[in-house]
Amino acid sequence: MAEKRDYYEVLGVSKTATKDEIKKAYRKLAIKYHPDKNQGDASAEEKFKEATEAYDVLSDEKKRSAYDQFGHAGVSGMGHDYSHVYHDFSDIFGSFGSGGDFSDLFSSFFGGSFGRRSSASSFSGSDLRCNVTVSFKEAVFGTSVDLAYTRNIPCDECDGSGAQKGTSTKTCPDCNGRGQVTRQTGFFQMATTCPRCHGQGVVIEKPCVKCSGKGVLKANQKIKITIPAGIESGQRLRIPGQGNAGQNNSRAGDLYVSVTVKPHPYFEREEHDLYIMIPISFTQAALGSEITVSTIDDKKVKIKIPAGTPNGKLLKLKGYGVPFGSKTAARGDFYIKLSVQTPEKLSSKAKTLLQEFAKEYGENNEPAPIELSKIGNI
Ligand SMILES: [Zn+2]
Ligand SMILES: [Zn+2]
Repeated sequence: MAEKRDYYEVLGVSKTATKDEIKKAYRKLAIKYHPDKNQGDASAEEKFKEATEAYDVLSDEKKRSAYDQFGHAGVSGMGHDYSHVYHDFSDIFGSFGSGGDFSDLFSSFFGGSFGRRSSASSFSGSDLRCNVTVSFKEAVFGTSVDLAYTRNIPCDECDGSGAQKGTSTKTCPDCNGRGQVTRQTGFFQMATTCPRCHGQGVVIEKPCVKCSGKGVLKANQKIKITIPAGIESGQRLRIPGQGNAGQNNSRAGDLYVSVTVKPHPYFEREEHDLYIMIPISFTQAALGSEITVSTIDDKKVKIKIPAGTPNGKLLKLKGYGVPFGSKTAARGDFYIKLSVQTPEKLSSKAKTLLQEFAKEYGENNEPAPIELSKIGNI
């Protein structure tokens, strides 16, 4: 591993830099090298981590003086596990008016426990799940479905705050609205969810009577959802924000819709291709003919059957399969599998004609087997 760089050098500040200068320098670097802005760029991620580590040490008086005296050795093992070290990033980024966004970014990067009241918090609304069944044809071409279900919505009495009308929530006195309390253990600062406000940062003095202070109410919801063309049975759609409302107007959960596709009596599907089995008589197969087949769009298409067509022959109709999506006109193909039928009942005239045919054809009563390699699957 490369030699660790000097923390002052990393942040580009002098050894006598003030807290403010350190904070400003870090903010600049954190914005520049943030992983969400530099996706897939490993060196940016490295620089971001390096700057965060440097800031973690230099912004803390005790750590800074230990570092000044002993260098990296003085602070090694002093809490570079960033998933547990607490920074109030909203303090750093707050002046940008985007504190919330940044705390979201940070919590995704560090695995969750960072930041103040981020979207991953426990009071976001929960996701909901439901199932819909569509017909085979609806799945091929897409459709829209009306869904009715029950979800939590923000309480109209208290506008989701949970506080009785006329009263308001107040900043939690135990955590000063941070939602987290920090515990000092030696050089470490450990953050835990504030037990008084359960991480919400606010406390309700008089709970709303309609929602008992929850800020949400159960309600029947009706929405229309679009099932995209080409969906397959078992696929799941995500409808953002249509899950349960969060407490105190925090982010609502999502609605996940599992789609089941009913089988079709005639059509079969394999990815974007469609298959159908069509019976033809052995004379049609032997002499050749023209048949008419209905596609999934109910379009009648004439197909030529060549003379001498074997049983099981696949004929392809290009572009009559399943659409590749709603944004393209491209579709899979439609395969017609021919099933040559043997007549079960013969009139005496037909019998005579077939006997004639058999004589003409010189049927063999001791036929040799067909080589498997010549016919593929039976
Ligand atoms: Zn209420
Ligand atoms: Zn609190």
